[in-house]
Amino acid sequence: MNEGRQTMRGAVLYGPGDVRFEERETPRIVEPTDAIIRMAVTCVCGSDLWPYRGVAPIDAPTPMGHEYCGIVEEVGGAVRSVKPGQFVIGSFATSDNTCPNCRYGYQSSCVHREFVNRAQAPVLRVPLADGTLVPTREVPSDDLLPSLITLSDVMGTGWFAAEAADVKPGSTAVVVGDGAVGLLAVLSAKHMGAERIIAMSRHPSRQKLAREFGATDIVTERGDAGVARIKDLTSGVGADSVLECVGTQDAMMQAIRATRPGGSVGCVGVPHGVALDGQALFFAHVRLHGGPAPVRRYLPDLIALVLDGKINPGKVFDLTLPLEQVAEGYRAMDERRAIKVLLRP
Ligand SMILES: [Zn+2]
Repeated sequence: MNEGRQTMRGAVLYGPGDVRFEERETPRIVEPTDAIIRMAVTCVCGSDLWPYRGVAPIDAPTPMGHEYCGIVEEVGGAVRSVKPGQFVIGSFATSDNTCPNCRYGYQSSCVHREFVNRAQAPVLRVPLADGTLVPTREVPSDDLLPSLITLSDVMGTGWFAAEAADVKPGSTAVVVGDGAVGLLAVLSAKHMGAERIIAMSRHPSRQKLAREFGATDIVTERGDAGVARIKDLTSGVGADSVLECVGTQDAMMQAIRATRPGGSVGCVGVPHGVALDGQALFFAHVRLHGGPAPVRRYLPDLIALVLDGKINPGKVFDLTLPLEQVAEGYRAMDERRAIKVLLRP
């Protein structure tokens, strides 16, 4: 192992609106189950905006970033399934892939889970490499990188929204939220065979991408008017499946109220200030499922869909910046000038 004090520069959040690209030590192998990867691309997530906006306060300077893919540089002595030189994609949540939660397919609740949080940097240490990383057969071409990195979080999260909302062939799905996860939830619902996909969005560029990904209807209204509009479109009762991809009280209530009795809500927006009324929930007659997406479970299948050209989730990136301009990436997403920002080290 290197004993030299090599340094690199990566993104660190100091407080609301204050992202710095600053020097820190280059990560090294700590545990024998670790891998070190050289980032091919990384990106800014909608969930990074919660601490960036001060909604989820931080108490100390915090290294940022949890979406990653790249080339393995070094592995610890216990790592068996990935080796230096391979291109890998991993989940934003690490997993051993062997504990009971992992075996049930809920790797993002692995008993050894850690959340990755230093990926907006050129080099990343990934714990539990064997259970977290999935290698591709060969190093992919550069044009596939935007789609491949979405599998690390946003695409897998949209996929989980659709799965949790029980989207089936022929069903009607509503997607609440037109951020990158919401748009990829549309793509996921389409891929799972939903016949009608109603995207709730007020932004023309996002509506356009939603339609490209498979949305059949756009609803611009919100609140009571939004729910009424969904009911108009669904025989007066609401949709079979509603995919909640925001995490606010309004979005959650919108989702529950837009679901028909017997239908399902898939919640993947990280809740901030959401409180549900037990009696309203009881009489809504809906199933709720969600949480941090088990993207590790989906990685092999989603990698195959991308490499076979069946899905192109990388279209959500509408701004690409050099990694050193990461602060501008946060600003662009915060101001909704960009849907999602790709960062190139
Ligand atoms: Zn586990």
